[in-house]
Amino acid sequence: MPADPILGMTAMFLEDKFPKKVNLGQGVYRTDEGKPYVLSSIKEAEGRVASELQSGRTFKEYLPIEGDATFRKLSAELVFGAGSAALREGRVATMQTISGTGAVSVAASTLRLVGGFTEIYLPEPSWSNHAQIFGAAGLEVRSYPYLDKRTGTTLDFEAMHEALATMVPAGSAVLLHACAHNPTGVDPTPEQWEVLAGTFAKRGLLAVFDSAYQGYASGDLDADAASVRCFEAAGVLPIVCQSYAKSMGLYGERVGAVNFVTASAAEAAAVLSNVKQRVVRPVYSSPPLHGARLASLVLGDPALSAAWRAELLVMAGRVRRMRAELAAALVRLGAPAPDGGRWEHLTAQIGMFAYTGLSAQHVDALRERYHVYMTRDGRACMAALKPDDVEYVAGAMNKVLR
Ligand code: PMP
Repeated sequence: MPADPILGMTAMFLEDKFPKKVNLGQGVYRTDEGKPYVLSSIKEAEGRVASELQSGRTFKEYLPIEGDATFRKLSAELVFGAGSAALREGRVATMQTISGTGAVSVAASTLRLVGGFTEIYLPEPSWSNHAQIFGAAGLEVRSYPYLDKRTGTTLDFEAMHEALATMVPAGSAVLLHACAHNPTGVDPTPEQWEVLAGTFAKRGLLAVFDSAYQGYASGDLDADAASVRCFEAAGVLPIVCQSYAKSMGLYGERVGAVNFVTASAAEAAAVLSNVKQRVVRPVYSSPPLHGARLASLVLGDPALSAAWRAELLVMAGRVRRMRAELAAALVRLGAPAPDGGRWEHLTAQIGMFAYTGLSAQHVDALRERYHVYMTRDGRACMAALKPDDVEYVAGAMNKVLR
């Protein structure tokens, strides 16, 4: 099989012997020094988890099929917020999952096996794994317009809305990125989310939110969940997939959740039991323990939670700084861009990825001639860029664009 478009790039990068090589292919955070980063709130939580274990207060027993009860409750509260009517009324079925990929995968299998859905609509483009996940679950993958084909770097809201309001059959399942759309970094505005929520409610569309960047996009946990909350307030009953890979830097611990908002507490209980018995038990029985304990402590302890929020601001701020520095360097060099060389899309987009507008040929040339790696759709991870590499990357981009 051909290599994965994202992970295959990392494998090529690791084999590259060139000393100044730069990997902007995979979505990971690096410090200004280019080092992986473990959040101090997570280090503190690790200490507490270790001492609980050493002192015999906790064990390594299996979690239930649905995962850790405290983690599930706190995770649902994080995304739906204190004002959520669905949470207050016990209408949300939450499963702990194997990070965000597992959340989307459980959602996909549930749509197919429990909901009887046969297709799903994805934005064009979307995270490359989405089509594989839904396809593997046996769903037909269709698409709706998202990125403006004329600019290549902005949202075509009219085309998106028109498709969802008229072309997509009523009652269809539709995937939405809650914030920091991957790969484009282009999100609807709050007003556009309101319009979409109204259309989903009117047409009975099932919203499947992928929320992989809450708190990491803007630095504000509530702002990044506004899309989900606006749908819930409009009476849409969404499915919401969550990942703590980026926001808590827990990539390899595989911590996530999927939430099914339903019409009643009885329905939530029925959904939960179906997901447990028909989707999760035959695949992996129960989710991993350690990362969920860490996340529970960070979500539930006021001091750790405050420390985490401060670290989110630092991470989101560093990403914004890298966007601005790269854009400024490209402008200084006079590098050609679709917007007449202003490179404003780099700073207007949000989240860890910049959708540069580079073609697959440009990306191949960048990699072959300058050892700068990004995915072939022109997506570059700004969270992995370090200040010392900005001039080199901008220079290389400028050369391949001319
Ligand atoms: N959805 C989207 C849109 C993502 O960008 C990612 C991370 N690349 C994920 C889900 C899930 O990643 P993980 O399984 O590492 O949580």
